[in-house]
This record gives sequence, C-alpha cells and structure tokens, in this order.
Amino acid sequence: MRILLVEDDRDLGPVIARALREERFAVDLVADGIDAAHLGDTEHYDVAVLDLGLPGQDGVAVLRQWRAAGRVLPVLVLTARDAWSDKVAGFKAGADDFLVKPFRVEELVMRLRALVRRASGHAQPRLTCGAITFDTQTGQFERDGLPLRLTAFEWRVLSQLMLRRGAVIERLELLERVYEGDADVDSNSLEVIIGRLRKKIGSDLIETVRGRGYRLACGGDDEGRAGGQAA
Ligand code: CA
Repeated sequence: MRILLVEDDRDLGPVIARALREERFAVDLVADGIDAAHLGDTEHYDVAVLDLGLPGQDGVAVLRQWRAAGRVLPVLVLTARDAWSDKVAGFKAGADDFLVKPFRVEELVMRLRALVRRASGHAQPRLTCGAITFDTQTGQFERDGLPLRLTAFEWRVLSQLMLRRGAVIERLELLERVYEGDADVDSNSLEVIIGRLRKKIGSDLIETVRGRGYRLACGGDDEGRAGGQAA
C-alpha cells in the first residue's frame, strides 16, 4: 500500500512519514499543493493524507481538483484544533475523514487502514483467501492461524492482492502501489517479491496472468468479491 502524504510542516511531515513506513506503507511525502495535485492525478495511491494550509495551492483546492477529475482516492484531511470551518470546507471538497492536530500517529494509522478497507469494498475487517487471513485493521497476516512474517515489500504486494482478491492487478499498477516515487526499481524486482511470497503462502494462491499482471485466486466464495476501486 502506498500513501500520498501532503504536509508542509518540516518537523511533522518526516515524523508522520517515518511512522507510516514502520507500519510497512510506502510513503511519498510532498510539501507543496501543486506537486500534491499532480501526483494524485498521475500515480496510484491507496490513500492520501492532506494538510490544508499548504504553499502553492491549499489543500481544499487540491482536493476539489482531484474530485472534479473523478479521482476516488480516499482522502484524510489534517486540520488545526477547533477549526470547524476547515472541517466543513474539507468535507464539502470531498474529504472522507479528518484528524485534528496534534494527533497520535496510531490513530492516523487506524483511520487510514479503515479508509483503505472501505474503499476496497470490504465491510469486514478480516479477509480470508485459502489458508491466509488478513486483518485489515492491524495489518497482520496469518497462515493457518499462525502469524506470517513478511518484509515491507512482501506485505505491500500481498495486502494489495488480498484487498482485491479475485481481480487481476496490472503489473505496472502493482509496482506503483509497492514502491515509493523516488525508488530505484529493478525490472524483475516484483517477480522476486512474488517468488518469495509464494514460498511463504503456498505456491498456488498467486496466479501470474501472462502479459497483464497478478491475481489472488482463492476459489469458492472469495471469488469475484474484489473491491471496486477504480484506477
Ligand atoms: Ca500546513
């Protein structure tokens, strides 16, 4: 999962980014409203965290621009304490949630996970595929009830496949949702990650769809229930 974090506070931005990376999210941190609007328009993100007071163009304008262009990306707005008018403006512009500064990063993480789950069309926090279970609210994977140890990259790939199980995820989109914007990506790195994942979760769950991408094939009731998140 990849997060667009838009925060111009030089102390707060890096602190939030570090905390989100510790939770294994890929994070692109930008401090300018114009850069933020462009990235949200051109890259695949699972969720955005948007401060309202920004250089270039303010957060409400950024959000209006995304929504006018039909972007369904879930957006959590950061507002100052007691700034009721900011919350109203944020929701009117198309925000999905907000958090008042100062906040605990743990609360931000919980809210972001819930936003991503709902945007993927899932009501229940626990998702199952064969022997694999994903708790979307804690980020924990289990295989046959035992915790599955995954690297950050493996977690990002598997969580993406799990949220949209049954659907083919294009290779390029999967890459974008796994790597940060400034990452140096080897051409076969995704295949390496998929190979390692197959060793950990069983070789038959992740299907390679030639010329397209990958699909988590669960069989039975789990088929066809992949989320409705548009690209
Ligand atoms: Ca600000």
